Amino acid sequence: MGLDAFVYCNCFETGKLLSPPRADFDVSVSDEGGLECGSRDLDTQIAFDAWRSLEACEHEDGKLLQHRIGNLSLVGRLRQELNRRHEDFPVILTKVISSGSHCGDFLAMDDIRQLQLEVPRLKNFPCSDEESQALLDRFHDQLVELIECAAVINKPIVF
Ligand SMILES: [Zn+2]
Repeated sequence: MGLDAFVYCNCFETGKLLSPPRADFDVSVSDEGGLECGSRDLDTQIAFDAWRSLEACEHEDGKLLQHRIGNLSLVGRLRQELNRRHEDFPVILTKVISSGSHCGDFLAMDDIRQLQLEVPRLKNFPCSDEESQALLDRFHDQLVELIECAAVINKPIVF
């Protein structure tokens, strides 16, 4: 259990696939930025997942960048610190570290723009101890990288 954040690659859209999709895959890009196979047939979905995760392109599972934000207790600790100034971190607190293990949701461009305003505030945030400060610095750097990556290829940040 824990929280991961990632950005899907755009190898499909930019023609950089290493292995073409099978002819029966009707490939499309989902709202999250990942690929879908366009089939409800379980065998087709399994074959698609195998292709997607290991063969389609150089990125494992089609992820361009992935960060482990942390386990439940670490995320809880970040929440506890930032909650002291919750008005400064609306997106971070409600959509990034809203819980230690939310998954399947994502930040679209509007949210990412708001996140960009909040991230610099992490830099000068007065934590209650040095260990939390180090965790927060790492969290800051992870968010900066995720935002940059999402901006470059114009895709959401997914959890
Ligand atoms: Zn890729």
